[in-house]
Amino acid sequence: MIFVDLRDRTGVLQLVIDPQKFPEAGSLGLQDCLYAAGVLKERPDGQKNPKMVTGGVEMHVERFELLAKSKVPPFVVESDVKASEELRLRYRYLDLRRAPVQKSIIFRHKVISAMREYLNGYDFIEIETPILTRSMPEGARDYLVPSRLYPGKFYALAQSPQMYKQLLMVAGFERYYQIARCMRDEDPRHDRQPEHTQIDIEMSFVDEDDVFGLTEGMFVHIVKTVLNQELKIPFPRLPYEQSIRRYGTDKPDLRFGMEIINVKEALEEKDFPPFRDKGEIRGLMIDEGGGISRKRLDEINEQAKNAGLIGVFWAKREEKYSGSIAKLLDENTAAKLRFERGNLLIVTAGDDKVFPFLGQLRNELAAELNLHEPGFRFLWVTDFPIFEVDEKTGRLVPSHHIFTQPQAEDLKYLEKEPLTVHGRLYDLVCNGNELASGSIRNHNRQLQEKLFAIAGMAKKKYTMLLDALEYGAPPHGGIAPGIDRIVMILAGLKSLRDVIAFPKTTTAQGLLEGIPDAVSPEQLRELKIKFD
Ligand code: ASP
Repeated sequence: MIFVDLRDRTGVLQLVIDPQKFPEAGSLGLQDCLYAAGVLKERPDGQKNPKMVTGGVEMHVERFELLAKSKVPPFVVESDVKASEELRLRYRYLDLRRAPVQKSIIFRHKVISAMREYLNGYDFIEIETPILTRSMPEGARDYLVPSRLYPGKFYALAQSPQMYKQLLMVAGFERYYQIARCMRDEDPRHDRQPEHTQIDIEMSFVDEDDVFGLTEGMFVHIVKTVLNQELKIPFPRLPYEQSIRRYGTDKPDLRFGMEIINVKEALEEKDFPPFRDKGEIRGLMIDEGGGISRKRLDEINEQAKNAGLIGVFWAKREEKYSGSIAKLLDENTAAKLRFERGNLLIVTAGDDKVFPFLGQLRNELAAELNLHEPGFRFLWVTDFPIFEVDEKTGRLVPSHHIFTQPQAEDLKYLEKEPLTVHGRLYDLVCNGNELASGSIRNHNRQLQEKLFAIAGMAKKKYTMLLDALEYGAPPHGGIAPGIDRIVMILAGLKSLRDVIAFPKTTTAQGLLEGIPDAVSPEQLRELKIKFD
């Protein structure tokens, strides 16, 4: 008898084939494609495989056909794959045959179906918008597409449907969504894809509460549908400035505590020279500080210096205090800092740079000490400044995008002190990841033009929106949750590439397609493109 593990989309079944009846079954290879029909029987005792879902049965084959032979695959197609990711991406169609990858792609389909189901239930209309559009930098660099019919002119691949969805509101559709592909030519970074997918949403006559309510309901529905788990709503809301001061980041991970603490007041009268004249003296109080070695503390000190700070100082409380600031601690300071036995205090001092440094350290230590509670901790981060200074150019740029409405009470500062103006801007964060961004938009041309002027952006490129705003545009706003990241987090996976059927590498290459690639001289001639 020949035993064959036959796989289809639903799993694996053992076939029992009689070589007398089907001699060709004797030369079957891994990954051959075959047809089999027969009788499903319970396996005899002793031959059952409890590790296999179908391990209690087997099919005795009565009809058999070899449909296609497979070459020896370049790697063994198995759940626990050993091949490098490069090789797997080169042969992605084989990699996609592996059960865990199939599972995550099917899971993605379920998440997207749940999104559609939910939004359709609220009378949203799914509308496609152009991929080929005009170059309108929305924050990232555009991918440009040369025009053959109009040599020297270019289309751009849409960075998002932002302007079109606003035009759909002007057009009176009121509730729109789209599973939208967004293409951005950004510098490669771990877990960034040159093209990503959003569930792009826009609504008329709404304010922040409406957008939050709808989005929360959608996540409740998704998580219930795909994981059968309940989410608690409403999600907490945290203004941006508080988020930075308490967690050192605008995407705080709330699966653990360890907030950044202000040490200044407690240690003020100690006159410790390194802390003298420092604007901020902040630290982390770590409950399970015992798990952090001396060597790690030295490393943290180096990390702080690399971040442009003075380094870190620390104290441990056991029988007594130990560490570089042990001498600053007594009953009084310990009480102020809630410094308990077993705790470790790490402190740094300087300017606002202390916050991102401690925020990053907070995340690292939580991972090292396994502090994450299971489950999903969502929150809204709100009240972002509408503008920020671009580090590279020193110029004022929109912190989300230029279509965001400034908060009414800050409008008077818009021209004189634009950096102090908050936007009607929000991010949805889950477990330390930004899952969505959105805003309430400008439906008034003059205000929108003023924002372009402040950011030094040529309003000419945006004429189509500006003109439309003069024809009775309704107030509107929206949000765009990133589907790749949502699926990755809900599936408990670590890489975006695991939830995209044909992903690019971290260096923006398609190994399967062999892209980017050169094109023929004829193609370039047609486009009238010459290289020096
Ligand atoms: N278009 C925005 C983005 O892609 C999302 C939004 O503001 O709705 O980030």
